[in-house]
Amino acid sequence: MGLFGGSPSVRKGDMVYAWTNDAEIKQKAELGGAVTGLWKHALDTHAVDAVLVVKKGKDLYDAQPAIVTKSADLKDTAGSLHCGTLLLAKFVKKYLDGAKTKKIGITVKGCDVMGLLELAKRKQINLDNITMIGVNCGGSVSPVLARRMIADKYGVDPDKVHKEEIDKGQFIIEYEGGHKGISVDELEEAGYGRRSNCRRCKYKVPRQADLACGNWGVIGDKAGKATFVEVCSDKGATLLSGAVKAGVLTTEAANPKGIEIRAKVEGAMLKLGDKWRRKDFSALGAKMWETINKETSRCIKCYSCIENCPVCFTAADELKKGSLMVKPGELPPNPMFHLRRFAHISDSCINCGQCEELCPAEIPLALFSHAIRVEGDTAFEPKLGQSTYKN
Ligand code: FAD
Ligand code: SF4
Ligand code: SF4
Ligand code: SF4
Repeated sequence: MGLFGGSPSVRKGDMVYAWTNDAEIKQKAELGGAVTGLWKHALDTHAVDAVLVVKKGKDLYDAQPAIVTKSADLKDTAGSLHCGTLLLAKFVKKYLDGAKTKKIGITVKGCDVMGLLELAKRKQINLDNITMIGVNCGGSVSPVLARRMIADKYGVDPDKVHKEEIDKGQFIIEYEGGHKGISVDELEEAGYGRRSNCRRCKYKVPRQADLACGNWGVIGDKAGKATFVEVCSDKGATLLSGAVKAGVLTTEAANPKGIEIRAKVEGAMLKLGDKWRRKDFSALGAKMWETINKETSRCIKCYSCIENCPVCFTAADELKKGSLMVKPGELPPNPMFHLRRFAHISDSCINCGQCEELCPAEIPLALFSHAIRVEGDTAFEPKLGQSTYKN
């Protein structure tokens, strides 16, 4: 008997189309509802004690983390929120005891996986108790910028939008009275679109999770109705097989043409990531330290960039006491405040963008630490996105 019930009928490396047989989940799901269906099975069989997912709060710009322990509550968590820029890794350490005492299932994007691996390496969380269902990720849009973009580029009141999706390279909105799509390229040329760290991100299919789910490669009569699932671990194979055996999900082999298309789209996204890295990093160029000094002079020393970074877990209170190089209360802070932070985190910065997203002074912090990390990666191992962890 496998961990999630039944012996696996799929194996690591398999690629299938999957869809839920639960009518309520199907109605709310982004595609086939495989992710939510799998969590339902995992909770019902007590393979996990709780799942950590993302759900819509007040509106679609308000993505909230949710801990679900009863499968009946899962339907409210189905669907993709592309303006959901939160990172779940640190949440596990802060609020779920690092999964040291409970078995936790988590829906993860590439940056969530990398954050979890970094925390596991630092013995802050127990990966053995964590099951990860990954979602492919083309990028997310900052909610504040999304509202401005919808007003300026779509000519629509952002409060009237009830659905958004990214499909075939377009950001599409549905609102009272119609729907409209604009190509992401056009939006980004105009300074809108995905967060800048997402444009540079090259972790599109989260293969370090147990399963990697997405819409790329779902073609034919299943297009828009099934989730493409790549099985990435034995744990993932057992979970998927158990859900199929229990009748929660149905699967069929992925169309070979679809597999080919998915690989091509992933390759194109990686090239696009390289293009943005070249553009962003060359703009920094030889004046990098000068730029960092100028930009960080706006800092109000709120410590949010430290508090929310998944590779850093210094107690902010300790920092506030000051040190040889940083005096408490000094504003703008001595440049050493930032240089010390960059020295501390840049070798393992995962380019998740949390520091930048949450900085009240709008300092492009992730750009700086990502540039330093990528420079370091030319000589050191492991490279960004290739880090592993073994107990
Ligand atoms: P559902 O059953 O609807 O479950 C969706 C799960 O995603 C839920 O657990 C929900 O809590 C979680 N979730 C929703 N929003 C977020 C968020 N912002 N961060 C973390 N978790 C979230 N697939 C592709 O093939 N190509 C892409 O370019 C692509 N881009 C994506 C970008 C984002 C920001 C997100 C969140 C997903 C993206 N996906 C992409 C994945 C795709 O949209 C579906 O999530 C996936 O196919 C699973 O579909 P489903 O019907 O099985 O999921
Ligand atoms: Fe997705 Fe990468 Fe952006 Fe994370 S950093 S939201 S994985 S594109
Ligand atoms: Fe300074 Fe921004 Fe960091 Fe706050 S989040 S300490 S303002 S750099
Ligand atoms: Fe993420 Fe910023 Fe920390 Fe890098 S420095 S891991 S981008 S929060």
